[in-house]
Amino acid sequence: MPVKTIIEPFRIKSVEPIRWTTRQERQRLLEAAHYNMFLLPAADVLIDLLTDSGTGAMSTRQWAAIMEGDESYAGSRSFDHFRDSIQEIFGFRHVIPTHQGRAAERILFGVACKHGGVVPNNTHFDTTRANVEFAGAEAVDLLIPEGRQPALPHPFKGNMDVEALDSLIERVGRERVPLVMLTVTNNSGGGQPVSMENVRQASAVCKRHGIPLYFDACRFAENAWFIKTREEGYADKTPKEIAQEMFGYGDGCTMSAKKDGMANIGGFLCTNDDRLAQQEKDLLILTEGYPTYGGLAGRDLEAIAVGVQEALEEDYLRYRIASIAYLGNHIAAAGVPIVLPPGGHAIYLDARAFLPHIPCHQFPGAALAAELYLEGGVRSVEIGTLMFAAAAQMDLVRLAIPRRVYTQSHIDYLVEVILDVWEKRKQIGGMRLTYEAPFLRHFTAHLEPVKGADA
Ligand SMILES: *Cc1c(COP(=O)(O)O)cnc(C)c1O
Repeated sequence: MPVKTIIEPFRIKSVEPIRWTTRQERQRLLEAAHYNMFLLPAADVLIDLLTDSGTGAMSTRQWAAIMEGDESYAGSRSFDHFRDSIQEIFGFRHVIPTHQGRAAERILFGVACKHGGVVPNNTHFDTTRANVEFAGAEAVDLLIPEGRQPALPHPFKGNMDVEALDSLIERVGRERVPLVMLTVTNNSGGGQPVSMENVRQASAVCKRHGIPLYFDACRFAENAWFIKTREEGYADKTPKEIAQEMFGYGDGCTMSAKKDGMANIGGFLCTNDDRLAQQEKDLLILTEGYPTYGGLAGRDLEAIAVGVQEALEEDYLRYRIASIAYLGNHIAAAGVPIVLPPGGHAIYLDARAFLPHIPCHQFPGAALAAELYLEGGVRSVEIGTLMFAAAAQMDLVRLAIPRRVYTQSHIDYLVEVILDVWEKRKQIGGMRLTYEAPFLRHFTAHLEPVKGADA
C-alpha cells in the first residue's frame, strides 16, 4: 500500500471555539500576567500547549461510559470495570484508584520508603522527586549520558544506566533501596522512551538484589509505540502486547490517568505485593477514599477504564507520534534548536541555543515563551532557570500536545509561529524577576523585560 498522509483517526462531534486576540491585546495581557504563562487566562490563549495532563479530548465511548457510572460508595460496578481493564494491560494483582498520579506516589513512597532510603529512577518527574524526598529518602537520577545532550539523536534516550544502577545498589546496600523506578516515557528528559531491552536489564539487576521494580507508567502507550517502531523484534506485536510484556518485568506502577489514561482526572497505584497493598489501602482510606473509588467519582473510573484501552489503539498512536514528529522535524529542518529526536508528547525548544545572546540569569526560556504568546497566542512552559534556579542544566521551552485536541492545521500554524519567532530571535531581550515565592517559584513568579543599560 502506498504511504498516504497520516490523518486524525477521528471526526469531530463537539467543538470548542478558540479565540483570536490582536497583538496589542496580547501585549497588554502579557503585562497583566507579569510575563508568566501560568498567570494568563486560558480564554485568551489560542493554542494551549502548557501541558498534556488532563487536557485531552474524550471519545464518544468514554462519554457513553460516563453515563454508566455507578456512584455507590463501596463495591461499585464501575470499580470492577476499572480494575479489569487495567489488569488486562498492566497485569498487577492489586489496582488502587487515586485522584491523580502524585497521590499514588505519595501512598507508595509513604508506605515503602524509610528515612535514609535511596530511590533510583531514570529521571524523577518533579512530583515524584518531591514525594520521595517528603518520605525522607533520596531520589537519584540514573539516565544514560546520551539522554542529557539535547542535540544528540538516540532511539531510546530515556534508558536507565543499568551499570550505574548496579553499582549504586552495591555502594549503599540493598536494604536502603526500597524500590527502583522506571519512568516511561521520560517526561523530564524530553518525553524520550525506554527500550524493552533496558527494562529487561533493569529488571535483572533488581531481581539479583531482591529489589522490586516499579514503573512510573504515565505515558506507557506512547513508550510501547516507540518500542514497536524502533526496537528489533517488536514490529509485528501490538502496542498492548508490548505493554503487557513490559509490565511483566515489574512488580507494580504508579499512573496518572491524565496522560495515557485519556481522562481529565484520575490515577492509580498497582502492586503484586499483598502486604504492601494492604498498607496502601489503609493509607488510601485515610487520605483519598475507600479502595473502590479512591477519590474519584464512579464515572471517572469508567472514563479511565475505556481510556487506557483507547491509548493503545494503533491508528491513534500512529497519528499522535507522527503529528509531534511533524512539528519537531519541520522546525528543526529550518534550524530551530530542539531536543532530538522529537518526544512522545511534546517538542522541547532549546532556549539557550535559540537565544544565545540572553544569559541564563535573564531567563531565555521565559523570554521565548513570552514571545511565542505575543507572536501567535501560543502558550508553552519554561523548564529551565525560572523553574529550577541554579540547578537548571538546560533552558527548555516545552510545547506539550494535548491528546486528540488539535488538528494538522493547528500544527501547521504552530510551525509558522515558531519560524516567525526564529526569524526575529535577535530582537528578543532577556527578563528580570520582580517577585518570587520561596518555593516552586515558576508558578507565581512576576517578570518584566530587561531594558536599556541593564540589557
Ligand atoms: C504527570 C506526571 C506525574 C504526576 O501525575 P499527576 O496526575 O499530575 O499528579 C508523575 N510522573 C510523570 C512522569 C508525570 O508525567
